[in-house]
Amino acid sequence: MNILVFAENTDGNFKKSTFEAVSYAAQIAKQNNGTCTAVSVGNIADEKLTELGKYGATKVLSYKQELLGKFAAETYSKVISHAAQNDNAELVIISNTYSGKSIAPRIAARLKAGIVTGVISIPQTETGFKVRRTVFSGKSFADIEMFTPVKVIAITPNSFAVEEMPQTCIITQLDAGLTNSDQVTRSVEITRNSGKIVLTEAEVVISAGRGMKGPENWHMIEELADILGAATACSKPVSDMDWRPHTEHVGQTGITIKPNLYMAIGISGAIQHLAGVSSSKVIVVINKDAEAPFFKAADYGIVGDAFEVLPKLIEAAKAFKRG
Ligand SMILES: Cc1cc2nc3c(=O)[nH]c(=O)nc-3n(C[C@H](O)[C@H](O)[C@H](O)COP(=O)(O)OP(=O)(O)OC[C@H]3O[C@@H](n4cnc5c(N)ncnc54)[C@H](O)[C@@H]3O)c2cc1C
Repeated sequence: MNILVFAENTDGNFKKSTFEAVSYAAQIAKQNNGTCTAVSVGNIADEKLTELGKYGATKVLSYKQELLGKFAAETYSKVISHAAQNDNAELVIISNTYSGKSIAPRIAARLKAGIVTGVISIPQTETGFKVRRTVFSGKSFADIEMFTPVKVIAITPNSFAVEEMPQTCIITQLDAGLTNSDQVTRSVEITRNSGKIVLTEAEVVISAGRGMKGPENWHMIEELADILGAATACSKPVSDMDWRPHTEHVGQTGITIKPNLYMAIGISGAIQHLAGVSSSKVIVVINKDAEAPFFKAADYGIVGDAFEVLPKLIEAAKAFKRG
């Protein structure tokens, strides 16, 4: 089976989700006597591209034309489809990141391929091709069979381990023949929240809700997050009231995350909130109401007032850091 995996980069650096996707692709290639080729789009140093060999890619198809300097779904999907055809790919793997979500269906349409997004399993290939995905905001699973000769799957970030499987990796520069007419949208400027840990990439997330009473109390959440090297998140009402930016809103209508540790402080645990965080590996809940629904989803819980618990937790985390 020829496998093509999209190696997404941010400002010339690969993300953790990229290494997960390459490791995942290499594992499927190994199980099916297949090949694992990565496709890189945009300007990125060749030394960085060879990093992909560490996770099992034997080949990297690299597209560096000027038009590809900034992400645009239309041009990127055209180029990745070009790579898939060039490599006779039977399976195209994409990480279900913001960018991944916007290109996966476009690539599937170009390749006339079946597509499954939100995939959380290695495909079963003994008889046919079957993958498992989450459905109903993560409350159920569905096993989906795919029948098309070319298949596109988008895997949920943080669902698969980054595993080293070192290979000699050959880089080939390609040109998909893009012209200005292929560019139907253009990012004029991207302003990043500097110095912050990206929520979707974070291993640890400290999240808070209406129980924090107001934005003036968020310094405790930020301090704890700083000590633990965590990203901050919040419930929907908190961002609706502008206590926190919408980029921190997690849940059914916000971002879905899957960190190793999710700490929920003063959040009731409504089903719409859980939809975005229930796949976290370990959930810790701090709530003064012992009957708060979130405790049912928690691995560890503290029944207590956040304004008493947080200062103690911050002191304990500082002491732990000091060793
Ligand atoms: C269609 C739809 C989509 C939605 N999508 C989302 C979504 O994506 N994300 C989301 O979060 N919500 C979403 N909601 C809203 C959701 O239903 C809840 O209303 C919301 O999650 C509640 O936010 P909260 O827990 O911060 O506030 P509350 O429900 O007000 O809960 C506050 C909690 O803090 C506790 N508390 C209070 N004071 C303290 C204290 N001093 N110390 C410790 N604990 C304290 C309380 O006991 C309570 O459990 C959606 C709703 C709908 C209808």
